[in-house]
Amino acid sequence: MKYISTRGNSPAKTFTEILLGGLAPDGGLYLPQIYPQVSRAELDAWRSLSYAELAFAVLSKFATDIPADDLRAIISKTYTAAVYSNGRADSDFKQITPLRTLEPGVHILELSNGPTLAFKDMAMQLLGNLFEYALDKQHDELNILGATSGDTGSAAEYAMRGKRGIRVFMLSPHGKMSAFQRAQMYSLQDPNIFNIAIRGVFDNAQDIVKAVSNDHAFKAKYKIGTVNSINWARVSAQIVYYFKGYFAATQSNDEQAAFSVPSGNFGNICAGHIARMMGLPIGQLILATNENDVLDEFFRTGVYRPRDTRHTYETSSPSMDISKASNFERFVFDLVGRDADQVREFWARVDAGGEFDIKGTPYWDALSQFKFASGKSTHQDRLKTIRELWEEYGVMVDTHTADGLKVGLEQRRPSLPLICLETALPAKFEETIVEALGRKPERPAGMEGIENLPQRVEVMDADLARLKAYIAAHVPQ
Ligand SMILES: *Cc1c(COP(=O)(O)O)cnc(C)c1O
Repeated sequence: MKYISTRGNSPAKTFTEILLGGLAPDGGLYLPQIYPQVSRAELDAWRSLSYAELAFAVLSKFATDIPADDLRAIISKTYTAAVYSNGRADSDFKQITPLRTLEPGVHILELSNGPTLAFKDMAMQLLGNLFEYALDKQHDELNILGATSGDTGSAAEYAMRGKRGIRVFMLSPHGKMSAFQRAQMYSLQDPNIFNIAIRGVFDNAQDIVKAVSNDHAFKAKYKIGTVNSINWARVSAQIVYYFKGYFAATQSNDEQAAFSVPSGNFGNICAGHIARMMGLPIGQLILATNENDVLDEFFRTGVYRPRDTRHTYETSSPSMDISKASNFERFVFDLVGRDADQVREFWARVDAGGEFDIKGTPYWDALSQFKFASGKSTHQDRLKTIRELWEEYGVMVDTHTADGLKVGLEQRRPSLPLICLETALPAKFEETIVEALGRKPERPAGMEGIENLPQRVEVMDADLARLKAYIAAHVPQ
């Protein structure tokens, strides 16, 4: 299996060759040259597999250059009940991604029982083990540099803590995250984790991370890398739970199912698209946005019009507050029949601050065969959904999952079982839960007093030279 770029001008690479990198050299994103197909006989055999066995069955079709025994070992140490047991007390942890049925035909797939209580742990934990394995083989090291406003940074730190050959330098806006989020990250005492609180807002932190990445000499000397959402291994790890959720919600492989996905950078739902392309019987892929509705607009009107960061709203489902959807190019590559010239032409406009419109082109007619539906959810919708779920089913959901439920229930075809992906636990977004329900969400056992643990964080001005000096001082040469 080789990987090609959506922009068509980069040599084909193997899974391990693209594992530690980001964008392809031509600025595109990597995708498999062809999607591996899952036969009916395989689907029938996979129905009864455990999560780890299923993950191996799926991922061995993509990571073909990792010896099977090595891949199996990496996967079985990643997907254990011990790693994914932070959820509600009544969760069936052994399933790794248990299915919670609200009423016949309406389900929530629990993806947030990992160490940081958000679905990003599902892929990031695997990435940590894959990175350690690959670096070990190459006798190399990696210093991960990133900026976070919450979920991604903590998922990365919990995945990389204690890993050989890896250090994490994670920038966050000083005083801007919730007390719980700060405690989650800053209380880590592992010597390979470096938290840096930047005086300023998230964009100030992001800007100096970009400046370091543009300094190619520094980047090479200090082996700087990233773990952003375009990483192919992260997308491929997310394909697994679409299969798992489908098997849990259906009786046989003759049935179709619908998935509803709270979306930001289009990484999660891109994995659903690929699962469908591999042959999983998905009848509907429902994309939910919050007030930042760039993607909903595309699926309704054919216009892709990324906003600039000044026109990104700060909402109560903050992990979906995006201005442009970094994984969307992968889907568009498939939509235009894998015509890289067409993708380059569209993104020449997007990268220049513009937009593109597929209405009136053959691509608009082709769109329906990909089975997408979409909708948006606002703060009021979110509060209403959280209240209704609590009153009708005694189930408390977080703000992002509420967006997915609202749009999923509105857009679903009643003939299909609906599987709503849970992307975080309510404990992460206490303030809005109190606003909706007048009570605090429960914390998973062991997380009750994390705000009181000693914290390890370096507070710094948003100053490039200061950051470089800090990295240089902490990376042995
Ligand atoms: C990252 C995130 C999302 C958005 O997922 P994408 O893959 O970026 O579309 C939604 N909800 C939560 C809680 C997240 O952390």
